[in-house]
Amino acid sequence: MTKKIAVLPGDGIGPEIVAEAVKVLDALKHQGLDITLEYGLIGGAAYDDAGTPLPADTVAISKAADAILLGAVGGYKWESLDISVRPEKGLLGIRSELNLFANLRPAILYPQLADASTLKADVVAGLDLMIVRELTGGIYFGQPRGVRTLENGEKEGFNTLVYRESEVNRIGKVAFDIARKRQGRLCSVDKANVLECTELWRETMTTLSADYNDVELSHMYVDNAAMQLVRAPKQFDVMVTTNMFGDILSDCASMLTGSIGMLPSASLDENSKGMYEPIHGSAPDIAGQNIANPLATILSVAMMLRYSLNEAEMADKVEAAVSVVLDKGLRTADIHSEGMTKVGTVEMGDAVVAALDKK
Ligand code: NAD
Repeated sequence: MTKKIAVLPGDGIGPEIVAEAVKVLDALKHQGLDITLEYGLIGGAAYDDAGTPLPADTVAISKAADAILLGAVGGYKWESLDISVRPEKGLLGIRSELNLFANLRPAILYPQLADASTLKADVVAGLDLMIVRELTGGIYFGQPRGVRTLENGEKEGFNTLVYRESEVNRIGKVAFDIARKRQGRLCSVDKANVLECTELWRETMTTLSADYNDVELSHMYVDNAAMQLVRAPKQFDVMVTTNMFGDILSDCASMLTGSIGMLPSASLDENSKGMYEPIHGSAPDIAGQNIANPLATILSVAMMLRYSLNEAEMADKVEAAVSVVLDKGLRTADIHSEGMTKVGTVEMGDAVVAALDKK
């Protein structure tokens, strides 16, 4: 059956990088991928057109789709708008409209780019880890929350860390399933020595592991996990953690690779419908100059093929095509180094498509 993909280019470099990812999807269509694309506005572009960063049309297209490809939102032009209509509201809105509770952030360092990291090449070359972050619960959403004034007049800020067993089970299953398809190792990160809520998180993960005898579960406190990520990141296969710990650890992990323009992400709902986007923003400083790196968005297409469209072989092909292009020495400005060939956004997309066509 034909799969529907909603394409939301957004702002800044969004339209440029999404255009290259669409070229890849078109090339795969010629190789038999049965998809249709429908475009929608989001972020600042939607605000300019319709006075809202998330028009009802965009929500409808996205709800009807099997997967969503997003560029990025935001830019200088919209920074002074009221917070309720800022571009970023569009992004948060679509995530909650679609109930995308599992955020998958791979940190992969292609050996060809080992010099791009601030860490020693031997510590990070060949890094391939996946962080699974719970996205719709925990302290970012827990009630009660706020700032109150105490009897003595002093102000006190408070938030609530809360997770139900069902929420932990739901994200745990996603993480175990992914570990099963990778090297079969899952590290659950918590602060069970201090926080009762994450003690329950740990117990729930342990109970769940009985259903996954083929996956080796380990537990780590978040402070140690932060240290281990920088000390010896290749020890990890898949990590699963809470919303806030995942927010921090996934940014740390992405920077191990040193190249923000290379990293894709996925946010999934309970039925593996997902939204796929590069981890970087709309980079307004380089928009419209044909210098943005489109590979994070192209690799987001690979994740879409793997996690929502059930086309693992095609996903492998896209990732292999990216590797071929890097082997040829082609680099956009952000990952360029001496001796390599500098190319623009469009040339990089064309090169991936050419490598794909040869497969
Ligand atoms: P950013 O990720 O857009 O840019 C950070 C730096 O990385 C910039 O120097 C930029 O030029 C560079 N960069 C980013 N992507 C690149 C690519 N593909 N190729 C080459 N270089 C790249 O983050 P920022 O500057 O903090 O934010 C810019 C805007 O993006 C803001 O409006 C912010 O709110 C928004 N933003 C959106 C998202 C999203 O849509 N998911 C995420 C983060 C930031």
